[in-house]
Amino acid sequence: MSDIIQLLPDAIANQIAAGEVVQRPASALKELLENAVDAGATHIQVLIKEAGKQLIQVIDNGKGMSGTDARMSFERHATSKIRASEDLFAIKTFGFRGEALASIAAVAQVEMKTKRAADELGTRLLIEGSEVKEQKPAALPDGTAIAVKNLFFNVPARRNFLKSNAVEMRHLVEEFQRVALAHPEIKMSLHQQDMELYQLPASSLQQRIVALMGKQYRSQLIAAQEESPFLTISGFVGKPELARKTKGEQYLFVNHRYIRSPYLHHAVCTAYEGLIASDLHPFYVLFLEIDPKHIDINVHPTKTEIKFDDERTIYGVVKTALRQALGGHLVVPTIDFDL
Ligand code: ADP
Ligand code: MG
Repeated sequence: MSDIIQLLPDAIANQIAAGEVVQRPASALKELLENAVDAGATHIQVLIKEAGKQLIQVIDNGKGMSGTDARMSFERHATSKIRASEDLFAIKTFGFRGEALASIAAVAQVEMKTKRAADELGTRLLIEGSEVKEQKPAALPDGTAIAVKNLFFNVPARRNFLKSNAVEMRHLVEEFQRVALAHPEIKMSLHQQDMELYQLPASSLQQRIVALMGKQYRSQLIAAQEESPFLTISGFVGKPELARKTKGEQYLFVNHRYIRSPYLHHAVCTAYEGLIASDLHPFYVLFLEIDPKHIDINVHPTKTEIKFDDERTIYGVVKTALRQALGGHLVVPTIDFDL
């Protein structure tokens, strides 16, 4: 009998990886936005059609790529961001797995246009289901524009699994908002079809929160600031009036990466004890800066979960810092002695 095990062709391996990295249009948008930020962009434009099912386009004015790098960027495990395993413990960029573009190109039709400032001409590359269809020099502005068309065109099961446009659009907007909050210094816009949803100038965090959430937030934000040897906290928490029954307006960033942490969410909520009803969720946009060697963000492909060395200490610092911020701003409720 002959041996029967074979290595999978790249296109299939990429498609399998895509199942983890690209669940829906919003996950593709997240990866493209992170790449634009990593490329040092100061201006990022997003254009969406059919809730991302037809088009997700991200245009940045970042450092661009050479023609060879443009081609390489679609190979799996191809990255300019880490070189050695030690680098995994000192990650300063959003990306590092080198999987996103390979995964996206495995399940969509992708057009990349990219040019470095120093180059006369840029490169236009078409790739479809991991297959390069065309690559040509082209006159282009500095930076990178990536258009992801017909997501899951070759994976009908996935395509059918996508939710309504309203639901997918909500996820896209959430993803956009997270990056916009994490980077108020970057000018950003979001268009859906021909409609402008956001046009955000470079600004302070406070101005960015107001631009995204609404004018009523302007007078409702309390600054939070704390520096401990291990951890720096900054950002804003909402006055108790901003607390809502529904979750969703809680933004926690660790080293500028949006993360979900029920544990630290709990730390924030305990700081509000006695200020809001226990079934309400406070508004917050908080940034934790921690030495990358104390965290592990490599636990999940979408990198929204991380592990901390010392969760309990962080919990304590967060709670104390917020308690202090809230206490300094709030008048103790007066008690009526109606005797
Ligand atoms: P990762 O971000 O994990 O490195 P990606 O697949 O997202 O992996 O990207 C692969 C590589 O392509 C990146 O390391 C980077 O060098 C390059 N790249 C991707 N997007 C951009 C962009 N918008 N501008 C410049 N370079 C980019
Ligand atoms: Mg990336």
